[in-house]
Amino acid sequence: NRRIVLAARPHGEPTPQDFRLEEVPIPTPGPGEVLLRTKWLSLDPYMRGRMSAAKSYAAPVEIGDPITAETVGEVVASNNPDYRVGDLLTAFAGWQEYFVTDGKGGRRVDPSEAPPSTALGILGMPGMTAYTGLLNIGQPKPGETVAVAAATGPVGSMVGQIARLKGARAVGIAGGPDKCRYLTEELGFDAAVDHRAPDFPEALAQACPKGIDVYFENVGGAVFDAVLPLLNDFARLPVCGLVSSYNATEVPPGPDQRPALLRMVLTKRLHIQGFIVWDFRAQAGDFHRDVSDWLKEGRLRYREDVVEGLEKAPEAFIGMLKGRNFGKLVVRVSP
Ligand code: NDP
Repeated sequence: NRRIVLAARPHGEPTPQDFRLEEVPIPTPGPGEVLLRTKWLSLDPYMRGRMSAAKSYAAPVEIGDPITAETVGEVVASNNPDYRVGDLLTAFAGWQEYFVTDGKGGRRVDPSEAPPSTALGILGMPGMTAYTGLLNIGQPKPGETVAVAAATGPVGSMVGQIARLKGARAVGIAGGPDKCRYLTEELGFDAAVDHRAPDFPEALAQACPKGIDVYFENVGGAVFDAVLPLLNDFARLPVCGLVSSYNATEVPPGPDQRPALLRMVLTKRLHIQGFIVWDFRAQAGDFHRDVSDWLKEGRLRYREDVVEGLEKAPEAFIGMLKGRNFGKLVVRVSP
């Protein structure tokens, strides 16, 4: 059982030395358990938080333990009558090839419904994050403008497409011209703006001539600075992630912006709400039904960035925090 463990807590940007590939015996399933062989491993920005000892909404990964991750695995041995060899199941197996589970907390994956890797993307946690955060907190109305960054990733691409299904205008923010072209030409976003371009704040203002009614916050930092002056009265801001600061080691220099920000919250009557996808656990059924239907009807599209081999996970993960991925980042661990 090859696995990748946390060798050291990263300081700032993770480096390959923070990870260690090791080999341990394949575990044996006990009564009521199954042995899963990982096929697909999801790489997600939240894992950076688990590598840090700082207090958060979930416990950190211990040094020497496999990095946390959701996977799609194939049952290769079963002591549980509910699961047969060959069944596909999601699990929080972590960055490793084999995992023993009783199946609780996992979902069965039906390969006839959609490619199994989508259980980690559009039909999985990131898709549900976009669906629940946008519809519960963002509440886009027809004709409104919805802006989202990291817009080609699994969360952002869904936010923009669902916004359009609800009749809103979708403005995507992404790094580089290729990603921007993909947003408007392939996903049907109304506009796309490159946050790395020197004139980014002006270009964003031009792309939002009627201001911004919903800003789905994935990144923070300079993008948030450019969005703030464009917010309309009563704008809604689901705060989903702040990926621009996940590797930060200190507070950015400059004047204290908090008083000005709170003044804006007051005068524009902004609704800012952080959320974790599991807050909306009760909506998992609605999410799965709606998104499966939209996929079958061809009203939603998705893109995956597939990395081959468990040993490539650290490099791919480090790259994701810098925007090297293009689409949902997944590792194919076994065929
Ligand atoms: P992505 O696949 O979109 O990967 C992250 C992307 O962030 C990069 O590809 C890059 O895209 C962008 N990025 C990195 N640094 C910056 C920066 N400084 N400024 C602007 N953009 C930057 O990730 P996901 O779709 O999986 O996740 C998106 C967000 O959602 C993350 O913040 C994540 O933590 C959060 N999340 C929150 C959940 C919750 O329950 N609250 C659940 C799931 C995800 P580009 O090249 O376009 O800049």
